[in-house]
Amino acid sequence: MNSSANGASEEKIGRPSESELTFAELDLPAHLVQAVSALGFTSPSPIQARAIPVLLSGRDLIGVAQTGTGKTAAFGLPLLANINPNDRATQALVLAPTRELALQVAGALETFASEMPNVRVTALYGGAPYMPQEKALSRGSQVVVGTPGRVIDHLKRGNLRLEDLCYLVLDEADEMLRMGFAEDVDEILSFSPSQKQVALFSATMPPAIQRVAAEHMTDPESIAVARQSTTVESVTQEYAVVPFRHKIGALSRVLATSDTDAAIVFVRTRAAAEEVGAALVERGIVAATISGDVAQKDRERIVARLRDGSLDVLVATDVAARGLDVERIGLVVNFDVPGEPEAYVHRIGRTGRAGRTGRALTFLTPHERGKLRAIERTTRQKLVEVEIPSPADVSRMKTRNLLRSIPARIEKGRLGMYRELVSDLLADGADPTELAAALCAIAVGDNGPQPRDAEEEFTGASLRGDDRGGRGNVLPSSKGFTTYKVSVGHSHGAKPPAIVGAITGEAGLHGKDIGKIDIFGNFSLVEIQGELSPAAIEKISKARIGGRMLRIAKDTGPKPRTEPKKDFSRRRKNDRY
Ligand code: ADP
Ligand code: MG
Repeated sequence: MNSSANGASEEKIGRPSESELTFAELDLPAHLVQAVSALGFTSPSPIQARAIPVLLSGRDLIGVAQTGTGKTAAFGLPLLANINPNDRATQALVLAPTRELALQVAGALETFASEMPNVRVTALYGGAPYMPQEKALSRGSQVVVGTPGRVIDHLKRGNLRLEDLCYLVLDEADEMLRMGFAEDVDEILSFSPSQKQVALFSATMPPAIQRVAAEHMTDPESIAVARQSTTVESVTQEYAVVPFRHKIGALSRVLATSDTDAAIVFVRTRAAAEEVGAALVERGIVAATISGDVAQKDRERIVARLRDGSLDVLVATDVAARGLDVERIGLVVNFDVPGEPEAYVHRIGRTGRAGRTGRALTFLTPHERGKLRAIERTTRQKLVEVEIPSPADVSRMKTRNLLRSIPARIEKGRLGMYRELVSDLLADGADPTELAAALCAIAVGDNGPQPRDAEEEFTGASLRGDDRGGRGNVLPSSKGFTTYKVSVGHSHGAKPPAIVGAITGEAGLHGKDIGKIDIFGNFSLVEIQGELSPAAIEKISKARIGGRMLRIAKDTGPKPRTEPKKDFSRRRKNDRY
């Protein structure tokens, strides 16, 4: 929210358009209306418009809405409207799954309460010393926001008392349950009076949540806002088919050609996050990694850097990036397809924040195409297939930027020495265009065609795996494995199980002897433990898939020239998170 929004939004609130509901019309106290308008909130979001009246009326509420739909104000404003600022007792408790989210909610509530000088908001979370939190509680805090584990600790130590609790919020309830906090939530509730208002917010409604609701809530009103929140609508959703081994190269080129301020790259596991982050740094892209394991302090520092612009690329796991709200993020890359379509919605919700537009690009390996349908069904939106930029695209972009910087450099002066050297060359009959072109190529790191040019490997065609011509070369196989080529591919209906079956059946191998399988248009690449004997090669070669002989042979592709320097794909365990 930039500061210049203040004046403009107050003006808007003063003259609301006919169709737009205002916060004042929701019967919120004037000081809260004032506080949100100062934040630039001109009109309530759909979940706010529907939840606020219900909560103000005192009823329990179940709110289902995606991340980024404005849930914090939806429960936060009525919560603040209902507490008694002159009573120091803890009257409202908000439970959130992670420290980051607890801090985010506490920060938002504090801002909403900017006109309520006697109201204190305290955040309680693990991974931090108890003392400051204990102190804050002892001074009296009407509103407490915390993660379940730490809240229980303070309850047990007698630092936190919930006798006067009248308002409980379970934020991101599905995530809390997924993280195993169900029992903690039950225990916390046992410390509180039975007469209280409960609000539960969640992006999804698994049965476990319905159980929590049935147990702890009284005749709750249910509100669900459309799955396609404005956030998701403001995100362009794309996918590209990228064989696993090309993912890092593809990612670095996507990032190199993206014009967004900042990007998040999602991976499934902590190990993958570290690996991808390291590979990007190796390629000269400034990237940081957060996973559930990163110390909270480091995590906050990283998020702050992302926010202030000193960091542009964050590699993260799903849990680590939950609720992350950074406006600069214009691009989300799903390096791995999310495990469940719901996670996809959460991931892409990290971009397109605060009315900006965003772009989400999902990498699918050739045999993950099927997962596309599940995502599209969940988001009710079609994903558009795009081509990954080629190395030539990256060079073109770098050159354009370079050329654009020329006038400014000329302006600065001190070019005499260069002018002289260049004049000598020109006097010797050099062609100026040729000369400038070569300088550009050198400046952007393009060393020209090599005996075996890796460029080809990364053309869109090879990334889509739909023709042989585009496949330039082969990367080293996983450790202990040899890459073989078989003459069946997509066009013959080859699927990994059939290939594994044919090879193991004919050569007496086990499934574990087979490594990565990449299926292309007319052929496939299969990693096999050790080397096949000539007899095994002969036998497998005669096996058939879709009526076509496998004709297995060792794959002999040209070696790559520049990328990947340190082969990412070689680390086989990461092929199967
Ligand atoms: P959720 O909890 O649903 O993920 P948040 O409460 O974190 O969503 O809000 C997401 C973003 O939208 C925040 O940056 C918040 O400041 C902004 N926001 C919330 N409500 C409004 C509104 N009515 N008008 C403009 N921006 C809003
Ligand atoms: Mg939230």
